[in-house]
Amino acid sequence: MSEGAVKKEEKPRKFQAIRGTRDLLPPETALWNRVEQTAREIFGTFGYGEIRPPIFEPTELFARSVGSRTDVVGKEMYTFNAAKELFTFENPSSNAPSPEAADNLGEFVYRIKDGFEKGDIPPTESNKQAVDSLLGKFSELVKVSQQLKPGFWQGSPPFLDAYTKLDAECRAIASKIRLGESISLRPEATASVCRAYIEHGMQQLPQPVKLYYMGPMFRRERPQKGRYRQFYQIGAEVLGGTDAPAIDAEVIEMVMTFFEKLELQGVQLDINSIGDRNCRPKYVELLRAELHKVKDKLGPDSQRRIDTNPLRVLDSKVKEEQSIIEKLPRIGDHLCKECADHYAAVKRELDLRGVKYRENWRLVRGLDYYMRTTFEITAQGLGSQDAVCGGGRYDGLVELLGGPLTKGIGFAIGEDRLILSLQESGKAPVALGRDVYIAWMGENARGTAVRAAKTLRNAGFSVELPPVEQKFGKALGQADKLGAKYALILGDNEVTSGEWTVKTLADGTQRKVSEQQLLDSLQKM
Ligand code: AMP
Repeated sequence: MSEGAVKKEEKPRKFQAIRGTRDLLPPETALWNRVEQTAREIFGTFGYGEIRPPIFEPTELFARSVGSRTDVVGKEMYTFNAAKELFTFENPSSNAPSPEAADNLGEFVYRIKDGFEKGDIPPTESNKQAVDSLLGKFSELVKVSQQLKPGFWQGSPPFLDAYTKLDAECRAIASKIRLGESISLRPEATASVCRAYIEHGMQQLPQPVKLYYMGPMFRRERPQKGRYRQFYQIGAEVLGGTDAPAIDAEVIEMVMTFFEKLELQGVQLDINSIGDRNCRPKYVELLRAELHKVKDKLGPDSQRRIDTNPLRVLDSKVKEEQSIIEKLPRIGDHLCKECADHYAAVKRELDLRGVKYRENWRLVRGLDYYMRTTFEITAQGLGSQDAVCGGGRYDGLVELLGGPLTKGIGFAIGEDRLILSLQESGKAPVALGRDVYIAWMGENARGTAVRAAKTLRNAGFSVELPPVEQKFGKALGQADKLGAKYALILGDNEVTSGEWTVKTLADGTQRKVSEQQLLDSLQKM
């Protein structure tokens, strides 16, 4: 082969984060940390404890709670059956007794055995029987295949027949094994919190139980600004025996206090009551009937929703539909007495707490389990995706998941959007700075520099200690680039004399300090 024919080496693929996901990087992560730290502090003052549920759960948990008819569960979940993927035949169409098929079957049987031992295949009695009988059949097949020599396939019908039969039997037995259930990455955390409340018998604890969480959620939505496929929520839930309106008001007060502390700009709280199982169905029917009367004037999305989910029509942002929607019957006029009283009391409790709100009769929630109090908070600088927090009451969800009668209310804050809004209003932290850059030169100074770094870091200073020595000019340039406040200069002279030089980078002034004075003098600066 000539030189020219040598195949050019392919460039290794450059990987990128998957669409809809992203890396959060410094210095932005400092803002994320501050937001999360503030949440912990504020929620702590309201008596909430943190819960960290797993990121994946049985698909059925979400299907049952979020509602299988909603978009989230219908088409936006990341669902997989790990066991199924592990144990499918590599070449399911090949039934021929070829060495390749034998290898595949062998590999398959090995995975089943391994999966059963590790517990990936549920250890039920019927699975145990199936695995045992599969292993037995497979060892028979191995014996037969040892008598089949390559090249003799077609010519040795008795062995071939026996082999084919055993191969089919193995596959038939394998198909009886029941694999683990379908699991999904969580699209939200309320269902997980309710599952945990039931699983750990939290109804035995003093009620209500107040929990908060923070972490990533996953939805296969169309990515755009403020909308991601992996996004982060900070949320809280109050679960217990009472739906006292003061609970609703306090939950809302807590979110507003959190936003205030963060100095979030342009915060607008909208509230509504969407009734309960008694009054909402009647209202929905009335709304549907009225919508049918004006159907021709509505756009295709709203037309479709008249039958599937008429409440969602109220969400419509289509300009031409607004005047029509404004004339539709309002849920506030159709609440039953209990819901109307509850809503009025929530408003009084909010007033008592000095929480400013706007009543918005068109505020509904996309998820099935919400009832009565509903709220949404928007903030500035977010364009069309301006909701930073959604919340509401969901009495009955715990029961739906097999738990005791429990009242519940909660909210979820979209952390990505919260951060975006804070950044838009100039709340982003500047680049991560350093307090002290240690410019050292010479072997004598190395040990001194390491010691100084340790002392300063122990006292809480952020210190950059260059790993190799640099000329002082270069070191000071580097200190500037990193935004260090001070440079500690350690050369042979300084080490010998015990007089160290501290340079203030902003104005270039220098002063001499002894090792003993270093901390003291930096703390006073
Ligand atoms: P939800 O769980 O749908 O009530 O959403 C609560 C909050 O989470 C919303 O108000 C948004 O701030 C945020 N959120 C929901 N979906 C996304 C997404 N795909 N990307 C970023 N934030 C989201």
